[in-house]
Amino acid sequence: MADFDVDLFVIGAGSGGVRAARIAAGHGAKVAIAEEYRFGGTCVIRGCVPKKLMVYASRFRDEFADAAGFGWQVGETRFDWATLKANRDAEISRLERIYGALLQGSKIATFSERAVIEDANTVRLITSGRTIRAGHILIAVGAHPTMEPPIPGGDLAITSNEVFELEKLPPRILVVGGGYIAVEFAGVFHGLGSRTSLLHRGERLLRGFDEDVREALGKAYAERGIDLRLGVMLERLERRDDCIAVTLSDGQVLETDQVLVATGRRPNTRHLGLEKVGIELDMVGAIPVDGYSRTSVPSISAVGDVTNRANLTPVAIREGHAFADTLFGGKPSLVEHELIPTAVFSTPEIGTVGHGEEAARRLYGDENVIIYKASFRPMKATLSGRSEQVLMKLVVHAETDKVLGVHVVGEHAGEMIQLAGVAVSMGATKTDFDRTVAVHPTAAEELVTMRTPFVTKRPVAVG
Ligand code: NDP
Repeated sequence: MADFDVDLFVIGAGSGGVRAARIAAGHGAKVAIAEEYRFGGTCVIRGCVPKKLMVYASRFRDEFADAAGFGWQVGETRFDWATLKANRDAEISRLERIYGALLQGSKIATFSERAVIEDANTVRLITSGRTIRAGHILIAVGAHPTMEPPIPGGDLAITSNEVFELEKLPPRILVVGGGYIAVEFAGVFHGLGSRTSLLHRGERLLRGFDEDVREALGKAYAERGIDLRLGVMLERLERRDDCIAVTLSDGQVLETDQVLVATGRRPNTRHLGLEKVGIELDMVGAIPVDGYSRTSVPSISAVGDVTNRANLTPVAIREGHAFADTLFGGKPSLVEHELIPTAVFSTPEIGTVGHGEEAARRLYGDENVIIYKASFRPMKATLSGRSEQVLMKLVVHAETDKVLGVHVVGEHAGEMIQLAGVAVSMGATKTDFDRTVAVHPTAAEELVTMRTPFVTKRPVAVG
């Protein structure tokens, strides 16, 4: 490797890139990394972390309302956006510094500028004009929010990037989309006090999730007072004196103060020099890779959202780690993209791992799928008076008794699903769940105490 400046050059210092760089350096590789925006990437700077802090903020509304039944007089409450924003931004800056320090501590050379590929072993730094020769290049540049197709007045809307820069809480907001980001931000703005509308082209939110989960979330959002507009599209946005007028595909016109479009993200593959090395993109502009994250060029790999496999931070981290272990640690490591536990930080929260009922029925046939489900008011609701139900659901394979999926809607669903995910990924059976002693009194105990299969339209035979 004598003619290379570094063994590994990583483009993009987000979750996947930073992990790959640090693990490779730990294996003794000489590593450099470039980042054009802020160290930490989408998750830390304008994704999971600041979003979750906002989710926490939004949930105090429920806590204040629920407190009365437990004897607390909370008094008048007032939310101050500026305080939340300042505290949140300070925390993000702290994390950004930690990321920088971790890289420096690992003796990784860092460049705060855009890097592009010059040839299979060379990157060019755009601002300084410097070129660096690398034994291997890792592309970990992530993705960006899109608004496709463009609509008239579309530039009046913001995306999940700009939402973190808003200087004040919009009194009214229209959130567009039915995926993770739209659902989460609709919950956040509603909780913080904005009059929130959520517009989605489908009839139900969260396509791809278990249908009971989708229904439970839609019901909860409607009951909480979120104005759900389903089966409609955005047609046009117009600036009026003191608001934005939104024309919908059904002809209705809605007035709002802010429009947040969250209709998906696209890989950041443009102007990266990929055409120079002959890397062809797939239909959505992602870099095709194999199980070891290798592209069609032997010296170039890619991890994270830019490969559009499972666009989740922990997955990008896994991919980055496996890449570095494979290339520099002498430990060939494949990343499994099945059975990924995930949470949607809506309020109520969703936790899910494995197959939903419909997917399982499609894969294994109706006669091979047994459903256990429970819907109940959690204990806290007995005094708080809250009517929202918790949903717990197990999807079980009839022949093998294996638990194919676990789905939870309710408080702490994300925490529950992390642990249920351990059991499911170990191949736990329903019998394993049954012989696990319940933790009482919790909501999660329902996951190990459901005994009677839920009989849907179709009679379910139980062996
Ligand atoms: P998603 O792919 O989850 O959702 C996109 C939504 O936009 C879907 O409801 C889709 O509808 C709708 N949509 C797509 N195109 C159009 C269009 N032209 N007009 C109207 N609606 C449209 O993307 P997100 O942006 O919400 O999230 C991006 C990724 O980020 C996700 O894949 C997720 O993995 C990750 N993420 C994870 C989080 C977590 O783990 N908690 C939090 C936030 C993001 P339809 O269903 O009909 O296609």
